[in-house]
Amino acid sequence: MPELPEVETVRRGLEKLIIGARITKVTIPYPKVITGDSQAFTTGVLNAQFTAIDRRGKYLLLRLSNQHTIVSHLRMEGQYSVEPIDAAPRKHTEIIFELDGQRVLFYNDTRRFGRMVLTTTGHESIEAPSLAKLGKEPTEESLTLAYMVAVFSRSKKPVKSFLLDQNQIAGIGNIYADEVLWQSKIHPETPANQLSEVELAILRKNIILEMARAIAHHGTTVHSFSNIFGEVGQFQNELEAYGRVNQPCLRCGATMVKIKVGQRGTTFCPVCQIKRG
Ligand SMILES: [Zn+2]
Repeated sequence: MPELPEVETVRRGLEKLIIGARITKVTIPYPKVITGDSQAFTTGVLNAQFTAIDRRGKYLLLRLSNQHTIVSHLRMEGQYSVEPIDAAPRKHTEIIFELDGQRVLFYNDTRRFGRMVLTTTGHESIEAPSLAKLGKEPTEESLTLAYMVAVFSRSKKPVKSFLLDQNQIAGIGNIYADEVLWQSKIHPETPANQLSEVELAILRKNIILEMARAIAHHGTTVHSFSNIFGEVGQFQNELEAYGRVNQPCLRCGATMVKIKVGQRGTTFCPVCQIKRG
């Protein structure tokens, strides 16, 4: 699943390619991609121009000139591409936006889990209620240590599961959760409320740095992720924990192990990341 750095990479690509473009025609070969009425969606976006592309957590917010915003969640494999007007849709193209300037914006999704909903700008959470519940963005300004201390202290969940909860911190998924816990030397099953303020400060710093580093590398490519230019992300070459089961820990040399935490595969170092109690 694309996590924050991958979605941010898509956002930046869309920003370069479609700002100012006008939607001249919409075809929806897979109407289920739209939450709500697909005919109303078409009517609501037709003839509008893309004015900005924003992001909140793993959601893209495609701003239109008519006070509407398309809220788009890529889920597992959703992907945008901008192509010449005569480009053939793919087998899994779910929505086709014809743009002025002889171009099309395809939304492709081999797994068909991604969803789009048309909202009123400024009132997005009426049609997309999960947006209102999202936790803080993992940035220096937004994710303060005081916020970390407050929310972690309220939960006994394993810290790995807590990091995946989008309503606490937005944008972290399985890959980056394993990475930041390894970097912070925290066992993934440690209850969130047992982390000390010092540990939370270290974790916070690693989360913020990791997101920035991954964005700088255009995200991580596992499975099919590529940016809107068809380029794959490069951060998979930088991963220190995720996907390294049975390999030596890059810090101490011990063999990395994989367990399930809250149904999710979790890779960690049993020597650096000591379990409590
Ligand atoms: Zn280690």
